[in-house]
Amino acid sequence: MSRVFNFSAGPSMLPESVLNIAAEEMLDYKGSGQSVMEMSHRSKIYEEIIFGARDLFREVLNVPDNYKILFLQGGASTQFAAIPLNFMNGSRKADYVLSGQFSTKAYKEAQIFGDAVAVASSKDVTFSRIPELDKSKFTPDADYFYICMNNTIYGTLFPSLPDTGNVPLIADVSSCFLSEPMDVSKFGVIYGGAQKNIAPAGLTVVIVREDLLGNAREGTPTMLDYKVMADNDSMYNTPPCYSIYMCKLVLEWIKKLGGLEVMKERNLKKCSVLYDFLDNSEMFNNPVYKPHRSMMNVTFKTDSEELDKKFIAESTAAGFVNLKGHRSVGGMRASIYNAMPIEGVEKLVEFMADFEKKNK
Ligand SMILES: *Cc1c(COP(=O)(O)O)cnc(C)c1O
Repeated sequence: MSRVFNFSAGPSMLPESVLNIAAEEMLDYKGSGQSVMEMSHRSKIYEEIIFGARDLFREVLNVPDNYKILFLQGGASTQFAAIPLNFMNGSRKADYVLSGQFSTKAYKEAQIFGDAVAVASSKDVTFSRIPELDKSKFTPDADYFYICMNNTIYGTLFPSLPDTGNVPLIADVSSCFLSEPMDVSKFGVIYGGAQKNIAPAGLTVVIVREDLLGNAREGTPTMLDYKVMADNDSMYNTPPCYSIYMCKLVLEWIKKLGGLEVMKERNLKKCSVLYDFLDNSEMFNNPVYKPHRSMMNVTFKTDSEELDKKFIAESTAAGFVNLKGHRSVGGMRASIYNAMPIEGVEKLVEFMADFEKKNK
């Protein structure tokens, strides 16, 4: 068996040890004679999995008791609508920071439901930084303030959180979930699709402060009402059973390695290897404003599209796969989530250095 180094932005690689456990338990989960895919979600044995995953999530991310952890479906993109439906319920105004494609999509979706206000945008610099925020432009009576914390496509990360006062801060953390410790109490809601850093596709984790629940707008579809999901322990209907099981295995893996502090250390080390190389390269460069560089998604390019193409073809052939940048920006992107070992980044840098030498 030979496994490649997979730099996919999502779905992305999972820890090999987790995949091994899943393989071992595939046909007969803990003596039940069934795979997790086959069991009733109402069974005692499955309850241990879903509640175990939820409790472990709370422990690993240090989620305060007054927050609910929901395991939903529909991806992050479904929450673009669920968020205004659940929370745009007072002034019906909400502030959005446009820091990339996903926050722009969320903003456009919210406009269907109310007065979504773009308080800042970095579109004019191709989202190569987090836009500067001017507090005097924030809407004082907004129902919430929305950001996308880590911008997967452009490789930027909010260096600090905006001060939104009493207005609840809502963050899409799809591509930085569990990459480092996070003070959940600073947020009204954080949420993300699991397929970047947590589990296979199909699971969306929403963490919501309890006092914000229960005021969904009239006409909110039952399946999008977070209160309904919270009251039913994420099992109003069939949850994404297998992805939740994988999420539990990944959380166990993180805990065993030492938790999110250790994850952060590992992730910082990995991205530094890559950024240091890029900063010293005469061929490759990273277009992002340095203080806003992402730990998880590292974008880079050469000065020539031809050379980019050649690099992608040759790196793929050498076992470094999914390095092609997002179709909207071109170039390359290495997504180096928790599961990527340091060795993968070191080998990639070796390959890049060698490529640079050969193509001078
Ligand atoms: C991938 C991604 C999304 C979209 O997620 P889906 O689960 O495909 O809907 C949204 N936001 C961010 C930050 C992402 O990285």
